[in-house]
Amino acid sequence: MTIRLLPDELVNRIAAGEVVERPAAAVKELVENSIDAGAQRIDVVVRDGGRSLIAVSDDGAGMTPRELELAVERHATSKMPTDDLMAIATLGFRGEALPSIGAVSRLTLTSRPKDAASAFCLVIDGGRKGAPAPAAHPPGTRVEVRDLFFATPARLKFLKSPRTELSHIKDVLERLAMVHPQIAFSLTDAEREILRLPAAPGDLFDARLKRLSAIMGRDFADNALLIDAERDGIRLDGHAGLPTLNRGTSSLQFLFVNGRPVRDKLLFGAVRGAYRDFLASDRHPLLALFLNLPMAMVDVNVHPAKTEVRFRDPGLVRGLIVGALKHALAEAGHRASTSVADAALGAFQPGTGLGAGRAPGNYSTPPPRLSAGLAERGRDYQAPLMGFEGPPLAPGSGASGFEACDPVTGEISGEPPPDYPLGVARGQLHETYIVAQTGDGIVIVDQHAAHERLVYERMKKALDADGVARQGLLIPEVVELDPAAADRLVARAEEFAGLGLVIEAFGEGAVAVREVPALLGEIDVQGLIRDLADELAEMGEALALKERLGDVCGTMACHGSVRAGRRLNAEEMNALLREMEVTPHSGQCNHGRPTYVELKLADIEKLFGRR
Ligand code: ADP
Ligand code: MG
Repeated sequence: MTIRLLPDELVNRIAAGEVVERPAAAVKELVENSIDAGAQRIDVVVRDGGRSLIAVSDDGAGMTPRELELAVERHATSKMPTDDLMAIATLGFRGEALPSIGAVSRLTLTSRPKDAASAFCLVIDGGRKGAPAPAAHPPGTRVEVRDLFFATPARLKFLKSPRTELSHIKDVLERLAMVHPQIAFSLTDAEREILRLPAAPGDLFDARLKRLSAIMGRDFADNALLIDAERDGIRLDGHAGLPTLNRGTSSLQFLFVNGRPVRDKLLFGAVRGAYRDFLASDRHPLLALFLNLPMAMVDVNVHPAKTEVRFRDPGLVRGLIVGALKHALAEAGHRASTSVADAALGAFQPGTGLGAGRAPGNYSTPPPRLSAGLAERGRDYQAPLMGFEGPPLAPGSGASGFEACDPVTGEISGEPPPDYPLGVARGQLHETYIVAQTGDGIVIVDQHAAHERLVYERMKKALDADGVARQGLLIPEVVELDPAAADRLVARAEEFAGLGLVIEAFGEGAVAVREVPALLGEIDVQGLIRDLADELAEMGEALALKERLGDVCGTMACHGSVRAGRRLNAEEMNALLREMEVTPHSGQCNHGRPTYVELKLADIEKLFGRR
């Protein structure tokens, strides 16, 4: 047996298998090099999906003849001045892209530094390196890759159709373009223009949103929330779409770590977690998030293609993402639901069908007044088309001829309904909405939103008084988490016990839940613990749980509330209405959305042209 060192040519060819799996990977390496070289515009031309030609031209720093020769040597790089793997600030660093590509194709580099009188070019053919020769080229660099994989026929067989390879190339380029909105990009396939992205002007956020919507569609700009959060040296910014803008796949979710496009399970999971309350599990939001963290907190050297990363503290990163998205969505929740309500009510406006004239009346008179005592709670409700302001009607006076039902049992008594501000429940629609009749109108209650608010207020009251009653679980429930998240929860065990939640460590990366707050009733313990773990990661070590009590109670309330979709009987519905009337802030749920809307009879009558 003889042990021998493999020749460079063979090593490069083997490495090429890892670094350039397909044409798109070569495009990524070359364009990243142009970005690292400070280019302002980068033009990519391909032919046959990159198989016969990939040419990347830039107006960056350029290379001298000597640098050209070094650039194609294995592990030659200008980007690691300190030999410190922990301090990688550029996209490239391994110094293996050019030699790898050169080993499996016919590679031509043409380059001219900004202040140089002329350009030089260097050819590598299947790994055989030529000498630099003078050439004509403006300042910048052009890298031409012809017949990719001709030297490795096995790899050639695995290439998909030119159309598929081209779509991968486009995807790669779009991701890089999102990070660098100030750089102009173009992609041309033979003579066909596939992508043209002019340099986007404005500050980073403006420019980025322009670039994002040029790629993701106009809808995105109109429906995107700005994300801008920072914690413990980790910064997260970008734009996230409202839940109402969604897709059947996660293909329009773009995630970046320190300027690198990544496809990381942890990050996708965090996005899913944040939108869980707002979207069905088979729908996916649109977003582009940019995570920036100190080099020491992330390892980008996991895979040669560099799309995976490893975080020092995954729980912290997840917490930051989930927290920032949830906050943005909670703030937008009201805005979105208001516009939805306006649109829905607006659709009832007379005159929109069959040429009917606009109903006569006072559309422009002041807004309606809400029944006494409800004004404060109902302030989120924007009446879109009302114009009636009359004296409050006496109890039951507007309800002659209505059948009334007992506010507790729901039985029809024949008596006029008592004067409850939120009325008497008449029925439940779609197992989600309670419809109640008031003295002078109707009230529609979102049962989940309302109940969540009530549980939350009950919990805060119990805390102020004698503590939250607990309820033991017959069998302790074990929840698996990542170790950092589990540690964080356990460190707060005593504080949670005060809130009625008794947990303890259960081996590495898990907690056992023994008791839960009694007033939550039957709950999804797994979901609750995961959400609390996210919240802890987001709020960090410094804060006492008490200072974030509102959030913690809110999370618990959400898990302890009647879900939309549960059938309620009359007694339960009326009990909910009565409790809402005596509970402060019950007009909006913990996410700021209204818990009920009220329509006055006067307005309903107007809809039918009776007034
Ligand atoms: P890496 O990017 O990891 O350093 P590469 O093999 O991709 O390794 O490139 C090797 C070197 O060639 C780079 O470090 C850089 O100095 C030089 N280089 C490559 N492409 C360009 C370019 N478009 N403009 C200027 N210099 C370049
Ligand atoms: Mg490189």
